[in-house]
Amino acid sequence: MNELDARAFGFDTLSVRAGESRTGEQEHNAPIFLTSSFVFANAREAAARFSGEESGNVYSRFTNPTVRAFERRLAVLEAGTGCIATASGMSAILMTAMTLLRCGEHVVAANGLFGSTVSLFANVLPRFGIETTFVDATDVDAWSGAVRPETKMLFAESPTNPLGEIVDVAALGALAREHGATLVVDNCLCTPALSRPIELGAGIVVHSATKYLDGQGRCVGGAVVTNDAAHHDALFSLLRTAGPSMSPFNAWVFLHGLETLRIRMHAVSESASRLARWLEGHPAVRRVHYPGLESHPGHALAARQQSAGGGIVAFDVHGGRDEAWTVIDNARTLSITANLGDAKTTIVHPASTTHSRITAEQREAAGIGESLVRVAVGLETFEDVRADLARGLDRLAEVGPRPRAATG
Ligand SMILES: *Cc1c(COP(=O)(O)O)cnc(C)c1O
Repeated sequence: MNELDARAFGFDTLSVRAGESRTGEQEHNAPIFLTSSFVFANAREAAARFSGEESGNVYSRFTNPTVRAFERRLAVLEAGTGCIATASGMSAILMTAMTLLRCGEHVVAANGLFGSTVSLFANVLPRFGIETTFVDATDVDAWSGAVRPETKMLFAESPTNPLGEIVDVAALGALAREHGATLVVDNCLCTPALSRPIELGAGIVVHSATKYLDGQGRCVGGAVVTNDAAHHDALFSLLRTAGPSMSPFNAWVFLHGLETLRIRMHAVSESASRLARWLEGHPAVRRVHYPGLESHPGHALAARQQSAGGGIVAFDVHGGRDEAWTVIDNARTLSITANLGDAKTTIVHPASTTHSRITAEQREAAGIGESLVRVAVGLETFEDVRADLARGLDRLAEVGPRPRAATG
């Protein structure tokens, strides 16, 4: 099924059929091409393939049929025209930065991005003469005020992790176009099953395939989806030269992960939404952060941009670190780990784990206090997840919050 007839089919059909091609063996399921190189019929063909004059497989650093099947399927699902699969989500972001930016150019990025992304922009890119200004993700005027003549990339995640802040993708896409820059959206938390940033105006979508695209916590991988042949060619050329390639085995796992993506994303959104509502009514909970809740500041925007709220729910308990840890330590089946996008529900205390490397003041500014707990909802029976959280929360509600220090 090629990109042209993709428009004639629904998302679920494309999820299971786009990108596949059958070999002469007439296999029904996609095979894995575990081969590093490919052979040529004769010297002339070898020369034509190497020069790019003739398309076809050469070497799995940049041409592999299993990786290509995953790339084609994800491109179609994201409403893009091209896709380059990468070894990890971080290498997808690095590749994007390396193709869009040169020494002396500038990036505007949201506050509160994934930690390694912040580190890439704040610590690595400056060594190559690229500066980044971080702004409040939800404040379009702040983005606009930070743009300079040399700004070439705007970078955002929506919703943000862990607070679920919603970024106005259409407004930022228009801002980027007005200034000759490209809006890049990390669509890890929504996936194309819930939101398609390219349709909203983004120029590029990046993914950590490690999360929901896999869906069962098996492989590390990433992808860059483009909507412009020049971007795609630049990425392909960099992939061929620099080599942060996806393994065919991982591509095969992700290709199958995509087949159940929409069903899983709606299942986790449904459970997360029920959980958020239940948490809102619990006496030990001070505040719930979930874009599917009417009380969330980004609710209306989320309703326009997303078909459901996603699987991440964060909440503040009354009290501080001790109370947050009590909730986590009383869970019996939830996994205490920072990963997300797995079939298994995970729970974490962001201030002492994922966000422990930034200062307390930076955490305070980002709204990630000691009382915050993050749950990445998986596919277990909803009542079991709720019961696991209730064990710690009910204990807190019985004793009540501990007296807080005078400084609060
Ligand atoms: C995990 C993650 C990444 C990095 O992906 P890796 O596959 O771990 O390299 C980037 N962005 C977001 C939002 C993530 O959650």
